[in-house]
Amino acid sequence: MNIHHVDFSATHKLETPAQPEPTGDHPQGLLRERAERVAAIAALHADDVDANSRFPVEAMDAARHEKLLGAMVPVSLGGEGASVQDIVDACYILGQACSSAAMIFAMHHVKAACIVRHGQASAWHREFMCRMVQQQLLLASSTTEGQAGGDVRNSEAPVVYDGALISLERAATVLSYGAQADAIVTTARRAAGSLSSDQVLVVFDKADYTLSPTFSWQTLGMRGTCSGGFHMAAKGQAVQIMPQPYAEIHTQTMTPTAHLMWGGVWAGIAATAHERARLHLRKAARGAAQPPGGLVHLAKARTGLTTLRAMLQDMLNQFASIENNPAALSALDFQTAITLLKVDISEHAVASVMASLRACGLTGYREDCEASIGRQLRDILAAPVMINNDRIATNLGNSTLLVETPHNLQNH
Ligand SMILES: Cc1cc2nc3c(=O)[nH]c(=O)nc-3n(C[C@H](O)[C@H](O)[C@H](O)COP(=O)(O)OP(=O)(O)OC[C@H]3O[C@@H](n4cnc5c(N)ncnc54)[C@H](O)[C@@H]3O)c2cc1C
Repeated sequence: MNIHHVDFSATHKLETPAQPEPTGDHPQGLLRERAERVAAIAALHADDVDANSRFPVEAMDAARHEKLLGAMVPVSLGGEGASVQDIVDACYILGQACSSAAMIFAMHHVKAACIVRHGQASAWHREFMCRMVQQQLLLASSTTEGQAGGDVRNSEAPVVYDGALISLERAATVLSYGAQADAIVTTARRAAGSLSSDQVLVVFDKADYTLSPTFSWQTLGMRGTCSGGFHMAAKGQAVQIMPQPYAEIHTQTMTPTAHLMWGGVWAGIAATAHERARLHLRKAARGAAQPPGGLVHLAKARTGLTTLRAMLQDMLNQFASIENNPAALSALDFQTAITLLKVDISEHAVASVMASLRACGLTGYREDCEASIGRQLRDILAAPVMINNDRIATNLGNSTLLVETPHNLQNH
């Protein structure tokens, strides 16, 4: 696969609608501007990351340099209290440059959000949050276990207790950047006698665990996430278990932030594909007697991108309006909407990138030119399988039977 220069400045010229300014007031500047600097570096290395299925070390070093990894930590603990909107905005910016770096950034922040929103009552987790900022810790997420795949709400391996000490042995069959992370935030069965759905979320520092590789990561796309499998053996203290049950963390934070932040990445990938197609067709139109073929596909790509951005922003607004209201977050209507968002966004993003490819024709299909859509297409194909849409849709199908039909417009 040939490496070619990615003109990030060109892909970034999308006319994005005005978004609220980041809340973070940081000596290094606005979060969005810092994300743009990271994206510029990520773009330079994105093809090499993809070609060699390697960790995007330059981008993640830049994210550390820009102090982005602790951005969500509250100001009182040394962070800047960045909102979910701020992070999704950064995911969109990074997604335009390097899908893998953006997805790593997103997955890290999903776990950061869980700790920030549910760990403040725990002294251990407060101290951990301080270290997240000071040491710019990179957090990995372990939910996929054994052959059961993506059933996030059931865990096989239990936490084993020995007084105040705990241990956990787990078949982490897909663990992105497991080897590079500074900590792993993992689901686990609460105890040996617990139901598989009675889960906890545990934070283990790198010094607490060993990882023995079990599966490689040679995939179609998202190759730089380095999501190989590991046997994980961890030891720690019981206080490293998050105080709230995972069921609550999952509903109130894990699902909303994962779907919003991943959605930001996927929208960014679709934006780059669209921009490449647009520039290609503009070039083709210059001096041509007739409009170039492919314009209808460009229009479809644009419509898909506009739709998924609007869906994302609408859900960000909904989340922001209820983010401190656990009952509203847990309500069936919101859960249905936020769950379906992942299915819809991933499918719109795939369709939009595919339309960009068709707009470019063979030029987009090539891997060795500026209008190549190859990497974006391979990367976006991870979206429907990253927590499989079929699994999500089936689970959703069952719960929607419980939602009553609203009888009037204002009060349902
Ligand atoms: C880029 C990337 C990064 C990832 N990073 C991580 C990570 O850091 N940590 C982590 O823990 N996991 C990670 N994962 C794994 C992810 O969370 C899911 O576990 C995984 O994508 C599910 O894969 P699957 O489709 O094989 O599994 P499953 O969900 O088990 O699905 C297997 C098959 O069964 C079908 N299926 C499943 N359930 C149903 C159902 N109810 N009804 C109908 N059909 C069904 C699906 O269509 C599919 O064909 C990552 C995945 C990707 C793609």
